[in-house]
Amino acid sequence: MKQYLIIDLEATCCKERTITRDKMEIIEIGAVMVDAVTLKIVDEYEQFIKPILNPKLTDFCKTLTTITQEDVDGAMGYKEALVDFKKWYSKYDDFLFCSWGDYDKSQFEQDCKLHSVSYPFSSEHLNIKKEFAKVQGIKPCGLDVALAHVGLELVGTHHRGIDDARNMGCLMPYIVGEA
Ligand code: AMP
Ligand code: MG
Repeated sequence: MKQYLIIDLEATCCKERTITRDKMEIIEIGAVMVDAVTLKIVDEYEQFIKPILNPKLTDFCKTLTTITQEDVDGAMGYKEALVDFKKWYSKYDDFLFCSWGDYDKSQFEQDCKLHSVSYPFSSEHLNIKKEFAKVQGIKPCGLDVALAHVGLELVGTHHRGIDDARNMGCLMPYIVGEA
């Protein structure tokens, strides 16, 4: 394994959870590629996606993620976005898919089913939320708490896919490294 592919997805949502888990759809893929030796971010990817079940974002979702209606209205559909994302990460041939919790993996599986496309990754996945807790000897926590735990500042906006992915990238030395 030569890289860690860290992915953070944002999805349609609402405060009262009336958009139930099975109806949530990806609206942003944020990803960084981290070199497995240096543990530095070597590449990054961001893509907005137009949802089909709930095309109009709730105010709650827009506030939580800072993603605007225009961002998704002008975006690719899931199928096309996945092709574009695949093209980006296929430059790397030996990576491990990592995310904060198992949510991002299952959301990918759900959207692939909805759009009748096959799940693009291998079955291997590293839950870095769980791994961080194990290595640091603490309970599983949010990304913001994890950053504060090791004295790192949260850069950008929490709950924005690309920013979450970058911040996770900064935590890799505390998860799989010597820090
Ligand atoms: P995150 O990676 O933590 O930013 O969360 C990913 C997605 O989970 C968000 O885009 C929302 O769809 C959903 N989500 C996160 N936090 C909440 C919350 N407090 N209430 C409802 N949905 C949420
Ligand atoms: Mg996020």
